[in-house]
Amino acid sequence: MKTNLKEINICLAGNPNCGKSSLFNNLTGLRQHVGNYPGVTVEKKEGSLVNGNYKINVVDLPGIYSLSASSEDEVVARNFIIEQKPDLIIDVVDASNFERNLYLYTQLSELGVKVIIALNMIDVLKNKGQEIDCELLMKSYGILAVPLIANKNKGTEDIVKAVIDVYENKIDVKTTRIDYGDFISEHLQKIESIIYDDVLLAAKYSVRYLSVNLIKKDKFVLEKIGKSSVYQELKKQAFESGDNISDKFSDSIDSVFADKIYTWIHSVAAVVVRTVSKSKYDVSDVIDRIVLNRIFALPIFGLVMYAIFKFTFTVSAPFVGWFESGIEFLSGYAGEIIPEGVFQSFIVDGIIGGVGGVLGFFPLILFMFFAIAFFEDTGYMARAVFIMDKFMRKFGLHGKSFASMIVATNGCAVPGLMAARTIESEKDRLITLMVTPFMICGAKLPIFALFIGAFFSAKDGANVMFIMYVLSVVLALGAAWILKKTILKGKPAYFIMELPPYRMPSLKGILLKMWERGVLYLKKAGTVILLMTIVIWAGLSFPKAGGKAVENISEEQAASVQVEQSYIGKLGNFIEPVIRPIGFDGKAGIALISGLAAKEVVVSTLGTIYSLGEIDPEDASPLAERLKNDPDWNKLKAVTFLIFCLIYLPCVVAVAVFFRESGSKIKWLVFLAFWTTVAAWLTSFVVYQAGRLLGFGG
Ligand code: GDP
Ligand code: MG
Repeated sequence: MKTNLKEINICLAGNPNCGKSSLFNNLTGLRQHVGNYPGVTVEKKEGSLVNGNYKINVVDLPGIYSLSASSEDEVVARNFIIEQKPDLIIDVVDASNFERNLYLYTQLSELGVKVIIALNMIDVLKNKGQEIDCELLMKSYGILAVPLIANKNKGTEDIVKAVIDVYENKIDVKTTRIDYGDFISEHLQKIESIIYDDVLLAAKYSVRYLSVNLIKKDKFVLEKIGKSSVYQELKKQAFESGDNISDKFSDSIDSVFADKIYTWIHSVAAVVVRTVSKSKYDVSDVIDRIVLNRIFALPIFGLVMYAIFKFTFTVSAPFVGWFESGIEFLSGYAGEIIPEGVFQSFIVDGIIGGVGGVLGFFPLILFMFFAIAFFEDTGYMARAVFIMDKFMRKFGLHGKSFASMIVATNGCAVPGLMAARTIESEKDRLITLMVTPFMICGAKLPIFALFIGAFFSAKDGANVMFIMYVLSVVLALGAAWILKKTILKGKPAYFIMELPPYRMPSLKGILLKMWERGVLYLKKAGTVILLMTIVIWAGLSFPKAGGKAVENISEEQAASVQVEQSYIGKLGNFIEPVIRPIGFDGKAGIALISGLAAKEVVVSTLGTIYSLGEIDPEDASPLAERLKNDPDWNKLKAVTFLIFCLIYLPCVVAVAVFFRESGSKIKWLVFLAFWTTVAAWLTSFVVYQAGRLLGFGG
């Protein structure tokens, strides 16, 4: 073993899936060691190689998108670089997603350690008909990029050579300094001059890194400099600068900086990324030229959504019919074998009338999820976000907001709300959280299906559903626009998005997704909805009406008196004055309130209410029919009811997630409750009263 080897310590950084591990294996072969970073479960891979007179020690950092320390992986990567001070960093960049990958590069470069870009996946880039001019990258920006195909072990020697050359200063790589503009630069300078007052501090960390992150009020950095003699002064100046910048750009500090960085990235990409040949056979490209066309994109997206609803309603209709007949039969059978009385009512009106009403729509849910999963798996849904991003930019909004809305439509508002996490700007995130619940999630779907089925012909069903969907999007965008113009002002941040290639989806994949989401619906029916149904049934059945009220009247009248005099009936009467002006009676009010537990409960509650009114369980008819025959309902009221359901307060689970995601501030929770309730009432009022004036539904 030679002992006069020069040791070079390097680490590999990069976004997840950029080929870091492949390069690490190419570099170190079998000479590697896997452990954990101290104190955390994040895996630490180390290895080394010998080349000429050099021994190069390599650490494979976890895959990260930035150094903002929003995850354990990012903290580990950042700590490692700052504390261990490697001689240089190899930033593995997926060349086919050059712009997004470059974000991490700018952050690494700010740390003051020399960075070499390992420009990986150039084969993929070439297939896209593009190339990156590495010479120009060096000449114009002082960035050293070495092309690689890591999974084929191509370019590994070039990387090793580059490492040695940079280490020996044979190649001069520059630290990239983003131009943050005069206003911000002045503030950075103010902070940096204070940092230089503490010589030790300035020597220990990259001054630029400290100043940028102090302005961002980064906890981690504040902690690091806690012992400095200039700590108080620094903190004061940094916070003041931060607030100034925030005010000036009327946006959060993080998005102001991200904006500047992406502006720089765009300008670099514009210079060095070239399209050399449009490969003729790239099917994705051809399709994209049509579906992303400036004029056709939006209509095509509308058509796709229309197709989804048309398919769902048409194909599921017979199945829903069978389910309903099955439930009717069950109801009749239970009525026969269980003697008349409270228990019969509990089973027939409560469980079967309530939960059964929700289960009846199970086929519809499955078909809807099937259709959506199909478009997701082809890669089209990602395009929808891209299309809407362009459109929404005109309103000062963000494409990622629409991503949340799509996720909510595709199943449930909860994952939609969580998807908003990827939005850097706090204001944009809040806006998204506020409007995502407007979407017609899987739980609201049965309400829509029920009322549309009851008041519209089978032929019109999908059309009405589609109009409702468009309305939900328009309402959400309108609301977002208002928020953006009033209490949550700010510019939208840049947003770089990868479009996956189109794929022929596999039937198995689609069925699996459909089933996963469908099962959640069943689970909910067996838990929350069942529980709520029991509560509602009990509330409607007690206290038992008696005495004079039920003397000398028909059984049917007695049933309705019972509902009227029950606990919940009284509650219904109590709230009725508030909802009369928007066309609803107490029954509708009860259903809406119970729907706060879970939106499907609106349906199950109506099921129980109407089932209790029916005296003979043996000729029960489907809920839709009962609604249609109830003089308290008509087409106009049904439409108003659906619009109310679009807007009013989301279910408790969604509200809880909203609370957490919006930073656990009571202020926003109260705001959400207030604004959704008021908006729902006002919109319904306008629709109902205007509808009456125009002579709809008497
Ligand atoms: P990591 O997540 O950054 O560690 O990435 P991996 O090394 O695990 O690579 C992710 C995937 O990309 C694997 O399937 C690799 O085989 C593949 N891959 C890595 N480098 C290249 C490349 O240069 N070209 C292509 N086409 N695929 C690559
Ligand atoms: Mg890996």
